[in-house]
Amino acid sequence: MITVEKALEIIRENLPEPQFETVGLSDASGRVIAEDVLSDIDMPPFDKSAMDGYAVRSEDIKLPPVELEVLEIVPAGKTPVKEVKPGKAIKIMTGAPVPSGADAVIMVEDTQYEPATRTVRVFKGVKKHVNICFKAEDLKEGDKVVNSDTKLTPQHIGLLAAVGKSRLRAYKYPSITIATTGDELVEITQLRCKMGTAEIRNSNTYSLMAQLNKVGFKPVSLGIIRDDMETLTEKISEGLKGGGADILILTGGVSMGDYDIVEDVLKKLKVDILFNKVAIKPGKPFVFGRASRGGGAGGLIFSLPGNPVSCFVITEVFIKAALSILCADKTIKNQIVQAVLKKPITNTSNRQQYIPARLWETERGQKADRDALWMVEPLASHGSADIVSICRANAFIIVPPDSAPLEAGAVVNTMRLPE
Ligand code: AMP
Ligand code: MG
Repeated sequence: MITVEKALEIIRENLPEPQFETVGLSDASGRVIAEDVLSDIDMPPFDKSAMDGYAVRSEDIKLPPVELEVLEIVPAGKTPVKEVKPGKAIKIMTGAPVPSGADAVIMVEDTQYEPATRTVRVFKGVKKHVNICFKAEDLKEGDKVVNSDTKLTPQHIGLLAAVGKSRLRAYKYPSITIATTGDELVEITQLRCKMGTAEIRNSNTYSLMAQLNKVGFKPVSLGIIRDDMETLTEKISEGLKGGGADILILTGGVSMGDYDIVEDVLKKLKVDILFNKVAIKPGKPFVFGRASRGGGAGGLIFSLPGNPVSCFVITEVFIKAALSILCADKTIKNQIVQAVLKKPITNTSNRQQYIPARLWETERGQKADRDALWMVEPLASHGSADIVSICRANAFIIVPPDSAPLEAGAVVNTMRLPE
């Protein structure tokens, strides 16, 4: 049995190099870009009007009201042909190039046009440079607009569009196949588990899919596999080939029971088993391996215990850590915060415990809170099968192995779940 830290280290050491792909800008929000992007233009590309109004010489309207002759009208997208000379103005729309000679734009609200004389009455003065966005004031051609390894927000997407970056190189999401094992399992489309039988609905596939969907992955499910050597071998080898899937996640069949034969099947299929027990509670029987002939991301295999809470916790702690590195996306991994414990934790273990909990933010500086920003309350749970208990949880309190009982008021590391 190895520690959680050691298991994470082994996973990190055995991850393949990240892979890259080209994505269209419309699909790039939330992705991590894998190239620096430079601007191909000045921004703005020319001196541009920030208002609908009149391009003027500010010195002409020092003593308003004044009347100016209107030389032409310049809509956005058109270039002015005339020059603003003393006593003249050019009507201009937002986004149009400011004509030469003008040093300010007076907004249309401060003017009145006289069609008979083709003049405009200006009621207010304007300072030099007002309502003009100057060429290259935001960005110069060749300036870097986005650094490689940035997770793209909608703001970045707008900027990338403005510099004409229609396709870009991004870290590739590994493909993931999920299969669940167990003779007792039935599909949820079956309306009721049959009375008098020992059936259990397959919930792991759904929670796993949802956990991975939440951080941007679209796993494919191979469904339920029965606990016999032949079927398992056939299905798992299909999963390893997996239509090219980079990661295979299995649930169930890795404990000490007579029918827990998944590890044997993996060995038979020449999977390199890198560990098979971790000092974590819940989730001890957790197998991590690498297929000898893997897919693009190296054919990683995460074989998780079948108990729903174990399966959930292992995914949050280990699988997300791996995906976070493969995609260079720190947000995939859960944040660990320090929180003040509201109720004592008396049950201790020689394994690292992940206790379902309710976490909330508090005011900094309250005396009892010892300046911590977070408060956390452990939730009652019947253990690793208690899927009900984790529904109220938005976090897991991490209690290190062989920790003494914790009193209320102690500061504990807590893993936040995604909102
Ligand atoms: P195992 O790890 O195969 O020994 O399974 C441990 C427990 O988890 C058993 O009570 C199983 O019925 C249950 N279990 C296994 N797979 C699933 C699943 N896909 N959905 C819900 N419960 C499961
Ligand atoms: Mg089983």
